[in-house]
Amino acid sequence: MKSKITELAKRRGLFLPSFEIYGGASGFYDYGPIGALIKNNIEQVWRSKFVLKEGLFEISSPNIGIEDIFIASGHAKHFVDPIIKCKKCGKVYRADHLIEEYGIKTQNLSIKDLSEIIRRENLRCISCKGELSDIESFNLMFATYIGADSKKAYLRPETAQHIFILFNRLYEINRKKLPLGVAQIGRAYRNEISPRQALIRLREFSQAEIEYFVFPSEKKHERFSEIANIELKLLPAENEDEIKISVKKAVENGIIANELLAYFIARTYEFLREVGIPSEKIRFRQHEKHERAHYAIDCWDAEVLTQAFSWIEVVGIADRGDYDLKAHSKMSGKKLTAFDGEKHVIPHVVEPSFGIDRIFHCIIETAYRDDGKRKFLKLKPNIAPYLAAVFPLLTKEELIKKSHEVFALLKNKNIFCYHDVSGSIGRRYARADEIGVAFSITADFQTLEDDSITIRERDTTEQKRVNIKELAEILIKLRDGEIRFNKL
Ligand code: AMP
Repeated sequence: MKSKITELAKRRGLFLPSFEIYGGASGFYDYGPIGALIKNNIEQVWRSKFVLKEGLFEISSPNIGIEDIFIASGHAKHFVDPIIKCKKCGKVYRADHLIEEYGIKTQNLSIKDLSEIIRRENLRCISCKGELSDIESFNLMFATYIGADSKKAYLRPETAQHIFILFNRLYEINRKKLPLGVAQIGRAYRNEISPRQALIRLREFSQAEIEYFVFPSEKKHERFSEIANIELKLLPAENEDEIKISVKKAVENGIIANELLAYFIARTYEFLREVGIPSEKIRFRQHEKHERAHYAIDCWDAEVLTQAFSWIEVVGIADRGDYDLKAHSKMSGKKLTAFDGEKHVIPHVVEPSFGIDRIFHCIIETAYRDDGKRKFLKLKPNIAPYLAAVFPLLTKEELIKKSHEVFALLKNKNIFCYHDVSGSIGRRYARADEIGVAFSITADFQTLEDDSITIRERDTTEQKRVNIKELAEILIKLRDGEIRFNKL
């Protein structure tokens, strides 16, 4: 499965290894022309669901942050992985990954414990069997310098910190009111020791994060009733097995810490469904106590079941309490508080943090179909790179002219589409299906007579005839789920 997707990704320009002509560097990928369109659509659905419908502020901050930010947040000291080197061939491993390669489980062990396992089991370098060094801590942030006076800085390891440090300004812009919800889509950088699994573990990746600030006593949401009855698959920390439970009951039974956290867990579930992940492949796993940062009140990962990599975390949703604002307040000497009518208090924050690249992988993997006769990506129309492809039935001048007119009409309506005249109509359908184009529009001889045109649905390959005048509106309604193809 993995290699089929990688092959398709390279051939059709979904995602491509970066810097390839210079030998490449692992952990970096370029999105090609088709991948970039799909990624933009994922971000657009996210923006519509969270920024527009939740009424959040969206901001866009620098990718670089000065050193103080990351001293305050704890990243400078604690954002580290344990590494170990082979004394013979020089290969560097993440110590826990190396131990796991030998079939030994290592969940959240300290450097001391990991060293003890390596000594006790006499583990060696995987490639040359050489002796291993002591374990060291390796900070995952990319360091850099600003200006000629070399002020130390880092590429941000997450987009969130820039929201925290802007709190006072945003609070004022929000007319000094809570709740205050702030969103950001942007790049994050982590110098992973062993980037792998293509888009799953990258050194530069895209995050879409929300920081939702509230008074500590008000961890509720006014629209909670809209999602209260959604049934979720949860894996609570103490449980061996998953449970299926409504959001409301999960809060009432104390499984999820509060309504606000539960609200964002439910909206995350809806989002994953809206971009095409089936509900049976989605679960929410609660962090065990030892996984959770000491300040986190409760933390859940949205996980998706993949064929290639089993369950993977795609979104982290945490109640971070007042940790971040407190830390930045201490470091900067500035008060970061909100007024509750009686006193100034440090707000608490709930943070849903989405990994766009992992979600991209899950969508493509879920959509991939190869039934022996036909290969296609069963992408939802709102995610498809092109909503439509426009063809003439035959490469005859009058048909090409007509299909070109239709192509121009759709472009003018801001519909992402392309015009293809090369090869047979069958080949053109096949090329469109393979990259997940939602609908193929074909001008034929009847079109020349009465301005009617065929729409072919990718998944069923069924065709309907509609009038060209109505085409753009119909396509938009199909994309937005306002009408169904079989009802045309
Ligand atoms: P975290 O801040 O570690 O909770 O990350 C939030 C989200 O970012 C995760 O749920 C992932 O989807 C994504 N993510 C984290 N690290 C990486 C990485 N190295 N490559 C790709 N996505 C990542």
